[in-house]
Amino acid sequence: MGVIVQKYGGSSVATPDKLRQVAARIVGTRRLGHQVVVVVSAMGNTTNELLALARSVSPNPQRRELDMRITTGERISMALLSMAIHDLGCPAVSFTGSQSGIITSDHHTNARILRITPTRIQQALAQDQIVIVAGFQGVSERREITSLGRGGSDTTAVALAAALGADYAEICSDVDGVYTADPRVVPEARRLDDVSYEEMQVLADAGAKVLNAEAVEWARRHGIEIRCVATAGDAAVGTPVRADAATVLHPRVVGVTAHPGLFLLEPSTPSDAPPAELEATLAAHGAAESEVWLLPSGWSALVPKLNVHGLDAFRDAVLGLGGVRLREDLTLVTVAGRALSAPPGHARRAAQALAVAGIAVRGRLVDAGRAAFLVDADAASAAVRTLHAALLGDSAP
Ligand code: ADP
Ligand code: ASP
Ligand code: MG
Repeated sequence: MGVIVQKYGGSSVATPDKLRQVAARIVGTRRLGHQVVVVVSAMGNTTNELLALARSVSPNPQRRELDMRITTGERISMALLSMAIHDLGCPAVSFTGSQSGIITSDHHTNARILRITPTRIQQALAQDQIVIVAGFQGVSERREITSLGRGGSDTTAVALAAALGADYAEICSDVDGVYTADPRVVPEARRLDDVSYEEMQVLADAGAKVLNAEAVEWARRHGIEIRCVATAGDAAVGTPVRADAATVLHPRVVGVTAHPGLFLLEPSTPSDAPPAELEATLAAHGAAESEVWLLPSGWSALVPKLNVHGLDAFRDAVLGLGGVRLREDLTLVTVAGRALSAPPGHARRAAQALAVAGIAVRGRLVDAGRAAFLVDADAASAAVRTLHAALLGDSAP
C-alpha cells in the first residue's frame, strides 16, 4: 500500500491523553498496511504562548529570533508523539522541518515552501518506521530556521504528500469536515460531501480556518486530495477536497465565511495607485499576503494581522509611507461559490439580505467565485448568519 500523510492540529494533541489517543489512531492506520507520515502541530495554545512571551520581552521581536522560538512548539509535540507510538509497539522517528528537507524562502515568520527533498523520511519509511514531522517550519537556502505563517502545518502536510507521492493528505482536527460556515458561528451549517479545489481556495483565502490557504494551493497545483476528518471520529466521515467536475457543470453557493483581524489600508486622498514602497513594507512585516482591491474611489489593501508580529511598528511603517490611511474596525465576510458570478443574482440577494438585516456594507467586491462584503467588525457574526440563512438555509434558492 502507498503512503498516507496525516496531520494533527493543536487541539488534537493538547494533552498527554490526547497525544496517546492520536498515537493509537496512527498505529491503527499503520496496521492496515499503509506507510504513515504524520505532521503534528504544537500542543493546544503553545504557539500563542510562545509568541506572547516573546512580545513581552520585545514589542517588535526580530523575526529570525521569533522563528527560532516559535518553531520549538512543534518540536516538543513531535518527540512526545513518537515516544507514545513506540510505547504501542511500532517503530517511529521524529524529524524537524529542516531534517525533513523542507526548503523555504527566507521570509521569516511567513516563509513559503520552495521544494522538499524528503530523503531521510524515505529512508525511515523503507525501514518500516512511522515518521513524525514537525509542522509549520522549514529551513532557508541560507540554513536559517523559518516558520510558514500561522496555521502552516496544513501546508507542511500537503506539500509533503506531494513530495512523497502520497495517496492523500488527511487533515485531522476538532471538526469532521468542511461546513457551509464555521459551525461555531452558524449552528445549522451543513457538512459538505465534497468541495472542489477552487471552492476551497476561495473559502480558505476568505478566512475559513479549517484549512490553510497555502495548503489548498499546493493541493490544487499537485492534484493532492485533502480529506478533512475529525481526529476523534470515523475516518470515513469527512469532506474530501479535490478536482470536481460537478461543481463546474453545476455552479453552486458553497459557504459563507468571515475574515476578522484585518487592516484596511486606503489612500488618504483619492489615488489610483498605492505608494511604490507599499509591497516591500508589507513583506518586511510578514504581511505579504494582502489583497489589493481597485475600487472606483481608488485602491485599497486588506492585510491580515495574523502574521504581523509587532503591530505598532507595522502601523508606524505604513503611516510613514504618507498618503495612506489605516482602518482596523472592519471584517470581510465572503460568500463563496461559482454561482456568485453567474445568474440568477445570488450576489444581489446577498446584498439585499444584509440590507434587510440592517447591516451596513462599507465596501464590496464580486468576482469569479465570490461576493465579499466589508462590514463593521461587531456585525460580522450576524452578517455570516444572515448570508447563510439567505443563500444556504432551508428557504434559500
Ligand atoms: P487545527 O488546530 O486542527 O489546525 P483549526 O482550529 O485551525 O484546527 O481549524 C478547525 C476549526 O475551523 C474548527 O474548529 C471550526 O471552528 C473552524 N472553521 C471555520 N470555518 C469552518 C468551516 N467552513 N468548516 C469547518 N470548520 C470551520
Ligand atoms: N502551531 C502553529 C500555529 O498555531 C501551526 C499550526 O498549528 O498549523 O499557527
Ligand atoms: Mg489549523
